[in-house]
Amino acid sequence: MNPYNEQDYQRPALEAPDGARQLLLHSCCAPCAGEVMEAVKASGIDFTVYFYNPNIHPRSEYEQRKDENIRFCEALDVPFVDGDYDTDNWFDRIQGLEQEPERGRRCTVCFDMRFERTALYAHEHGFPLISSTLGISRWKNMQQINQSGVRAASRYCQVDYWTFNWRKKGGSQRMIEIAKREAFYQQEYCGCVYSLRDTNRHRLAGGRERIQKGVKFYGRDEIGRN
Ligand code: SF4
Repeated sequence: MNPYNEQDYQRPALEAPDGARQLLLHSCCAPCAGEVMEAVKASGIDFTVYFYNPNIHPRSEYEQRKDENIRFCEALDVPFVDGDYDTDNWFDRIQGLEQEPERGRRCTVCFDMRFERTALYAHEHGFPLISSTLGISRWKNMQQINQSGVRAASRYCQVDYWTFNWRKKGGSQRMIEIAKREAFYQQEYCGCVYSLRDTNRHRLAGGRERIQKGVKFYGRDEIGRN
């Protein structure tokens, strides 16, 4: 028996820093959000999902990822806040970093921008704690994400960033199990036009086809990147 799979796992109640009972959870997509949302909900922590991801390209991909997240929020009866799709600001901030590799400096700027807006919303709406689903993905550098989150929260004396490791104790496994259970849309690149470019280059170099956006769903096939 695997004690960490979705059926067998006995969820402990998570303790938020300083006993916070309200969390603004930045979400990047439904597959990453599934396990994190279920863990937080099971712990009795009142939370709202904040979807702010102007990095995602093109708009059709952005809408599809957002719609999947809304669908899961409705299923769990969790409030969903739809942030701006201010791509002009995102491209402004990324200027000069277009050739950076994934997990490089472009990603730091991208995380900074998303978490700064999350922290601002938390500050304006009385959330003492923020965190993000981004850290559960094995494709991401968790330290890089946590540093951006802490940096953004430090702008406000009443807001903290929760650096919890959502991958541990089977979190990564359950993330995939929940994604399959819910048949979430399965993106094959991180999100920005540069990650799409680089993933396609990598695939073509390996003799594979270009990404087909919008067509893969967990549980219906096994190709994916979350
Ligand atoms: S690869 Fe992902 S994290 Fe990095 S800049 Fe692009 S969308 Fe943002």
